[in-house]
Amino acid sequence: MNGCPPLSGATRLCALIGDPVAHSLSPLLHEAAYAALGVDLRYLAFSVAPGEAAAALSGAAALGLVGLSVTTPHKDGIAAAADTRSAVVERLGAANTVVFRQGLSVAESTDGPGLLDDLARALSFSPAGARCAVLGAGGAARGVVVALADGGAESVLVVNRTPARARTAAALAGERGRVGEAAELGGVDLVVNATSLALQAGGEAEALGASLAAALRPGQLAVDLAYHPARSPFLAAAATRGATVRNGLGMLVHQAARQVELFTGGEAPVAAMWAAVGERPTS
Ligand code: NAP
Repeated sequence: MNGCPPLSGATRLCALIGDPVAHSLSPLLHEAAYAALGVDLRYLAFSVAPGEAAAALSGAAALGLVGLSVTTPHKDGIAAAADTRSAVVERLGAANTVVFRQGLSVAESTDGPGLLDDLARALSFSPAGARCAVLGAGGAARGVVVALADGGAESVLVVNRTPARARTAAALAGERGRVGEAAELGGVDLVVNATSLALQAGGEAEALGASLAAALRPGQLAVDLAYHPARSPFLAAAATRGATVRNGLGMLVHQAARQVELFTGGEAPVAAMWAAVGERPTS
């Protein structure tokens, strides 16, 4: 590891904006990457109040930041406020990344590609030709639907509590998208749980998460975007039913790795980033 040069007037800054951010692993991941690359960059997390995305974006541009990571509740606000958007951000209406280029803010989305990077590296999984299902229809779910469809999935089934949101998410996969029920999950190759159930305390959320895996079987791959706890009730139930399971820590590492590449122009030091969160690349 080279380490970052000492702080000086030439040191540049990247940052996370969100609310809350105190729990975030992003500073650890980015600082480890910058140190491994030996670049004169630092990374801080800023708690930005709801509704202040555009103000934070202007401030970051005025201060000459290199880039931003963006988390809840600012993904939609940043997509709307940025000067330009990637094609995926246009479709999603949400961004998790901003890169400042020649004074302009460019909104990008690395969440869905980050998940696919992790599944490719850890499990040699490719969505090309795969039958896929996504549980949930929030921002993370929509990003995964787009990544799966763009990756060549044969079909993308969306299962969600609120039907209208399920229809919106499924439409992002075009003709290959469809709204369905949890009982159909035994018929797909990959199931991605992108609900926020793992974040919710209490037996009801645990039971619901586990029930979503009731139709799973050996030979399937089950992913939960949540990584705390390391094995959610959904993943525990999926493992009991014989599915191969993977949590969302790898997605977190790889979405950050793609941000590092956008911010620095260098190849992300993925092993150093895994080490920063105390894990080896496959788990
Ligand atoms: P979100 O926009 O709030 O969406 C949450 C989804 O969960 C919605 O579809 C919601 O259904 C569903 N849901 C919530 N409570 C439910 C319940 N009691 N019963 C049934 N469905 C329920 O959240 P998000 O930003 O998409 O994040 C989703 C998850 O992904 C979180 O666990 C988050 O931590 C994780 N995530 C991980 C990464 C990573 O890098 N690993 C990145 C992004 C997000 P309705 O539509 O019916 O409300």
